[in-house]
Amino acid sequence: MTTELLFRTDAYLKTASARVVAVGERGIELDRTIFYPMGGGQAGDTGVLSRESGERIAVVDTRKGEAIDSVLHVAAATTPRPEPGETLTLEIDWQRRYALMRLHTALHVLSCVVVAPVTGGNIAPDKARLDFDIDMRLLDAGKIERETNALIARGVETETVWITDEELDARPELVKTMSVQPPRGAGRVRLLRIPGIDLQPCGGTHVRNIAEIGAIRVLRIRSEGKRNRRVEIALAN
Ligand SMILES: [Zn+2]
Repeated sequence: MTTELLFRTDAYLKTASARVVAVGERGIELDRTIFYPMGGGQAGDTGVLSRESGERIAVVDTRKGEAIDSVLHVAAATTPRPEPGETLTLEIDWQRRYALMRLHTALHVLSCVVVAPVTGGNIAPDKARLDFDIDMRLLDAGKIERETNALIARGVETETVWITDEELDARPELVKTMSVQPPRGAGRVRLLRIPGIDLQPCGGTHVRNIAEIGAIRVLRIRSEGKRNRRVEIALAN
């Protein structure tokens, strides 16, 4: 079952209503959702599904289902389960998601400060990291922090761009992340453009203007193996 992904066109939706399509072992499926499922290194959303009776179903995680664009809302073990056909009011934990959006967008900027192939990445609500295939001696925390914050201070608007699979194949330089290839098969690929800074395939949630990131701090840089030099960051405020 395909779920309409409302966060893809508007990452700022905090509430919505949706109909229950299926309730399974792994989670609740809805006809549409504002909950981002874990993917591309970004943590899945948490929040609440409210029934018409006012009863609240706590969502502790969101995962991708089997089919393309299917989303599983993982309910807390102790909360009630809704019935298929029921209409629910969706509400995400916005404070947590907004931190994820700011950190996620910050990683796009960071990937343009450290110019090396990206071998991994992760975004949690309190910190985020990218792993690079690079010589440790080229990584200076103070310099990375200064240069990333200088780019963030440009305060440019982000843009979503869609291209075809063929257009992406013709521009392999767009794919910086060696470990995660953009999803193929749907015929088109979503890109995030930060004008003058970055352009790469990404299905995640981003802030509208990079000024919303504020500034970042480099928490630490360490080696996680020959091809994984890990740069970990947090929001400064
Ligand atoms: Zn992204």
